[in-house]
Amino acid sequence: MLHRKGLLELSSMLESREVCAADIARSYIEHIPSMNSRINAYITFEPEKLLAEAADSDRRRASGSALSQFDGIPVAVKDNINTEGMRTTCASRILENFVPPFSATVIEKMKQKGLIIAGKTNMDEFAMGSSTENSCFGPTKNPYNMECVPGGSSGGSAAAVSAFMAPAALGSDTGGSIRQPAAFCGVTGIKPTYGRVSRYGLVAYASSLDQIGTFGRSVDDTAALLEIISGHDTRDSTSINREVDIKQSALTGNVKGIKLGVPAEYFNAIDPEIKSIIENKIEELKKLGAEIIPINLRYTQYAIPVYYLIATAEASSNLARYDGVKYGYRSPDTKDLASLYLKSRSQGFGKEVKRRIIIGTFSLSSGYYDAYYVKALKGRTLLINDFKEAFSRVDAIISPVTTTTAFKIGQMSSDPLQMYMSDILTISANLAGIPGISVPAGLDKSGLPVGLQLMGNHFMEQKILEVAKAVESTCENISPSL
Ligand code: GLN
Repeated sequence: MLHRKGLLELSSMLESREVCAADIARSYIEHIPSMNSRINAYITFEPEKLLAEAADSDRRRASGSALSQFDGIPVAVKDNINTEGMRTTCASRILENFVPPFSATVIEKMKQKGLIIAGKTNMDEFAMGSSTENSCFGPTKNPYNMECVPGGSSGGSAAAVSAFMAPAALGSDTGGSIRQPAAFCGVTGIKPTYGRVSRYGLVAYASSLDQIGTFGRSVDDTAALLEIISGHDTRDSTSINREVDIKQSALTGNVKGIKLGVPAEYFNAIDPEIKSIIENKIEELKKLGAEIIPINLRYTQYAIPVYYLIATAEASSNLARYDGVKYGYRSPDTKDLASLYLKSRSQGFGKEVKRRIIIGTFSLSSGYYDAYYVKALKGRTLLINDFKEAFSRVDAIISPVTTTTAFKIGQMSSDPLQMYMSDILTISANLAGIPGISVPAGLDKSGLPVGLQLMGNHFMEQKILEVAKAVESTCENISPSL
């Protein structure tokens, strides 16, 4: 049953020599294949590699040279984070057989602490989506209800942690892709401040919004992994040179005197059950000493168009590199360079990715640039100002993560606009570059998890983790019955 233990639990068992890394690896190797055949959380799982690295770790610990208290623990990694020697597909045909020659900075940082890559997790192609249905490897299922989506785009990571296929995981969040699947799968997920974690080696979707973050079954595990991957990196020019002030061991869950803003706009058109669960949690935080302050984030209604213009514009530029020449899929039946580009891209990309490249190219085209792209940038500034004003009055903002609990597989896939609308409560944090966390708040009547979101000002991760820990302390432990 070692696979059911969390990151910190495994760490103390390893440190006390109660178990060795090989025991942990074997537990996952026994559990993952059958569970994955039902959930489809992993795209790549290599048991031999896992065992070999666990054996290396055990040798290090035996000789007194363990790299950290976490040495030997496997962690799942979203398949848009480059891992040297292990394929990184972005769940796309165009990168189906791509094995990167280098590792992302976050992977190097994990390795420096002795953490092992458990495998690469399923996602929406190039992180475009909110359900993990846009994957060339098929959809991931929600561990709480196999007919439902796990959320997306980091649905594989969230489902892997939820279904005990990893103690913790890495994901990426451009518009909610960590927080929304965390909410749907009943786990904790944090998107850090833009610039807190290096994006070097993360396959780019929308570079001004993308950020790598972490999942765990507890706030402490989520924080501990974030602490490991955070920090300045000269290889990412948007990485910020500032001391890592996230400290899992200092978290107490004390919210006395903390000012929590409740934005009216984030409680409109919310499923009534979610609304009442979140409102109850707000009451409980009040009892624990938090001060509750009503606030407004007036431009929230523009967040969807602003985000989908900026994200697609950046994506159309970033995805130009997949041309069938440099790497990735190349169409076999081409006669000249133009048809090589055309066919490789037509055959390699999925429908949603093509839709976004077309929207982005259109909004950046000379005739429409000012009307769409520049206008969206102005809207982004208004959203940023909303948060600036809010954070002059409050320490953190509390809200739901999603307007509904996990929806059925196929329910929204024919209506992309409806799918885009479902991101309304998460995308503003990316546009403003601020940190956001989703922490489980309970289950709805049908037994599906509900997430609670906390957003903080830039670099206030420790504060939102602190409040998240308080929320966690008021909840019963939830887990799927698998
Ligand atoms: N659902 C949003 C999108 O499709 C967010 C995705 C993400 O955060 N990567 O763009």
